[in-house]
Amino acid sequence: MAVQTVATHTDLSLGPAAALSCRECGERFPLGPVFACEACFGPLEIAYDLPEGDPEELRRRIAAGPDSIWRYAPLLPVPADVAGKPNLNPGFTRLVKADNLARELGVTGGLYVKDDSGNPTHSFKDRVVAIAVEAARAFGFTTLSCSSTGNLAGAVGAAAARAGLRSCVFIPHDLEQGKVVMAAVYGGDLVGIEGTYDDVNRFCSELIGDPIGEGWGFVNVNLRPYYAEGSKTLAYEICEQLGWRLPDQLVVPIASGSQLTKIDKGLRELIALGLVEDRPYKIFGAQAEGCSPVARAFKDGHDVVRPVKPDTIAKSLAIGNPADGPYVLDIARRTGGAVEDVNDGQIVDAIKLLARTEGVFAETAGGVTVGVTRKLIEAGVLDPTLTTVVLNTGDGLKTLDAVAPTTGPSAIIRPNLDSFREAGLA
Ligand SMILES: *Cc1c(COP(=O)(O)O)cnc(C)c1O
Repeated sequence: MAVQTVATHTDLSLGPAAALSCRECGERFPLGPVFACEACFGPLEIAYDLPEGDPEELRRRIAAGPDSIWRYAPLLPVPADVAGKPNLNPGFTRLVKADNLARELGVTGGLYVKDDSGNPTHSFKDRVVAIAVEAARAFGFTTLSCSSTGNLAGAVGAAAARAGLRSCVFIPHDLEQGKVVMAAVYGGDLVGIEGTYDDVNRFCSELIGDPIGEGWGFVNVNLRPYYAEGSKTLAYEICEQLGWRLPDQLVVPIASGSQLTKIDKGLRELIALGLVEDRPYKIFGAQAEGCSPVARAFKDGHDVVRPVKPDTIAKSLAIGNPADGPYVLDIARRTGGAVEDVNDGQIVDAIKLLARTEGVFAETAGGVTVGVTRKLIEAGVLDPTLTTVVLNTGDGLKTLDAVAPTTGPSAIIRPNLDSFREAGLA
């Protein structure tokens, strides 16, 4: 494995992060900008020396921390003084108790929407990028980069601007205008590639191996082990906001599948630390029918995820060859969950349902999770008598194209009462 060493890794201070460990064979490696095991080529993840001691004391310490993901710094691969550095301080987004939606769906056990549209660049990606930026700083990278389905490009552009790093990010050329503009406005370089996300990703892997890519930190490639840990904060926040309690069921969107696997990791850490009571929970994965390789494998009872060519309005989830697919299958099966998909029409209906019942405007990925939640309840797979948390990972303003054709003014009238009366709305 070619390692672009730009700093010595013996003096690294990434908080409780102790090493990289292989998710397949368990082999350990020193912290560095590497992502694949030298022994078996399996993906690497962070191993920790997590804080020991009184859970009550740790809960108090967290509660006294900042209103951002940095309140969980003792559980993340970041330096202890991270909150004082120039970053976007994402996280601690609202957990909406969705009683109106619950009534509509027949949920009696408590239904919540974890609304990550409230992050600085309006998607959950600010969480993962914030961790990757700290790793980039530690390894001395000067350019921040990524392959993106849209939201990640904006999050990287903004975080790099704030951290004073150069950014150069790569997206499929045909994304929604909201995503393209948001990725470009922060002043870094944005490159549209003629191809799918999977083509963009392959291109970035090539770039890393080339001298051009020297000194470049690709947040979701060579910094992926660090990046991925940012998703654990969703699990931490949900439990803390429920009063340090595990939800019974979670519905999580799947693009590469990284977020879902790290939410599971975060929940298991909270149990291990004694911060929440050890009770069973189920994790359900949600995909769009036009890109549902993991749902397909789950339904067919396969362990292998067969890649597809995406064709869906849920472009933020359009990864045809999801790196974490097999791990998602493991988690869904181990926890007693499932992986389900919904079609584009059901996604739009679900976006409108959430907006109409709770005043939350989700992007297409949120339409996928709400739509899958509805489908799983109707199928009797999701238990409506249990506490359920549905993730909305992005802002509806980024995917206006999805709802614009079927959403608009009830009437256009002349500015007088007669005209309003004629419109039949009085
Ligand atoms: C990236 C993204 C996800 C999930 O990504 P994973 O690759 O599965 O971690 C979910 N929702 C939105 C809006 C995203 O942009």
